[in-house]
Amino acid sequence: MKAISLLGSTGSIGTQTLEIVDEFPSQFKVVALTAGKNLPLLVKQIQKHNPEIVALADESLLPELEERLNNLDIEQRPKILPQLTGGSDGLNTVASWKSADLVVTGIVGCAGLLPTLAAIRSGKDLALANKETLIAAGPVVLPELKISGSRLLPADSEHSAIFQCLQGTPWAENARLSTGVPTPGLRRIQLTASGGAFRDWSTEELKKATIKDAISHPNWSMGRKITVDSATLMNKGLEVIEAHYLFGLDYDHIEIVIHPQSIIHSMVELADSSVLAQLGWPDMKLPILYCMSWPNRLETPWRRLNLTEVKQLTFSSPDIAKYPCMELAYSAGQSGGTMPAVLNAANEEAVAQFLNEKIHFLDIPKMIEIACERHKKDLNSNPILDDIISVDKWARTIVCEQIYKGTC
Ligand code: NDP
Repeated sequence: MKAISLLGSTGSIGTQTLEIVDEFPSQFKVVALTAGKNLPLLVKQIQKHNPEIVALADESLLPELEERLNNLDIEQRPKILPQLTGGSDGLNTVASWKSADLVVTGIVGCAGLLPTLAAIRSGKDLALANKETLIAAGPVVLPELKISGSRLLPADSEHSAIFQCLQGTPWAENARLSTGVPTPGLRRIQLTASGGAFRDWSTEELKKATIKDAISHPNWSMGRKITVDSATLMNKGLEVIEAHYLFGLDYDHIEIVIHPQSIIHSMVELADSSVLAQLGWPDMKLPILYCMSWPNRLETPWRRLNLTEVKQLTFSSPDIAKYPCMELAYSAGQSGGTMPAVLNAANEEAVAQFLNEKIHFLDIPKMIEIACERHKKDLNSNPILDDIISVDKWARTIVCEQIYKGTC
């Protein structure tokens, strides 16, 4: 029985993790949860899973959570109410909760950074969905992993595919994980991309893209921020940086391939020129389950892949001119140091502003480019945590300033 601490339980990754726990009650139990603001759903999760501790990111909502739990009918109330906590310290306590064996990181954005570090510092293994943390703070996270011996198991479907492909190789031991050195025998990574909501749109059409258009992904059902990232293809750019930190390959050997069917979740080319791929229907439960069960595989009744049903697997090169976010991400990754943190924070802020109807879809890459350009003169190649936190704040301010000035 593996005890799970789940960060971001009310989100897309969080709820799918809980579905897995429901499906495998003899394998997994939930001991700790965090959420942002969604109290109605959190209360249901507490009733069902009986965690030992629960943290709310927004501390001011704690009295309301307590009231909602106390107001439940006696037969619907958990036998033992969980310890309730909140704010940054509360999230860190849940992330390092003593009885947890594995921490699933489903918080969206760089808000996941400090809890992730708390989990690593307490020696927990992590199922990493919260990619922004690694992208912003790779130079801080990787050394911490070395010290604590925590393992970072990738829940992102592409990185899970790469991880799964490497399991059968003689270098499997070194593929566990995030040592910051190249995985031996791994020559090239090909990250597949569905192409997002606007795959077939022209640049002219993109000028009229609405929020509703941007949050309708053709293949995957995900949270709003990552769905917009998929539409700009920044998600793939972020995944390039994530792959660099997880598997140690330089950026010239990490490529993006458009694959609209999302059946091949990514490919690796090995030293002997063999290419290995992992295939499946686009369903995040599979990579999440693999993190939770690794190194084992559990029997599931889930829909089995039938390639005659899929009929065609197609591939093409990404359109870099139409989707500038990919180049911005490669460039930030190659600069290294604090630059990916600036890229990530500017993207988070620009996407939030787009979702608040303050800027247009095509303004998102412009905002990120301005922040990265301005940061060049201050690039810190060997940042510590405070540097990452400081440039993260700075990049968000730059985006807000641009909006205030009406640059977009
Ligand atoms: P969602 O927006 O669906 O969920 C985010 C979760 O984080 C919610 O529980 C939310 O709480 C909580 N949260 C929001 N803001 C904060 C904050 N400031 N502090 C603490 N908690 C907060 O996101 P997803 O589940 O889609 O994505 C989560 C992460 O996983 C992202 O990093 C994403 O890139 C990654 N990922 C997601 C995939 C997917 O299929 N969804 C696929 C691959 C990676 P509440 O809702 O209660 O406010």
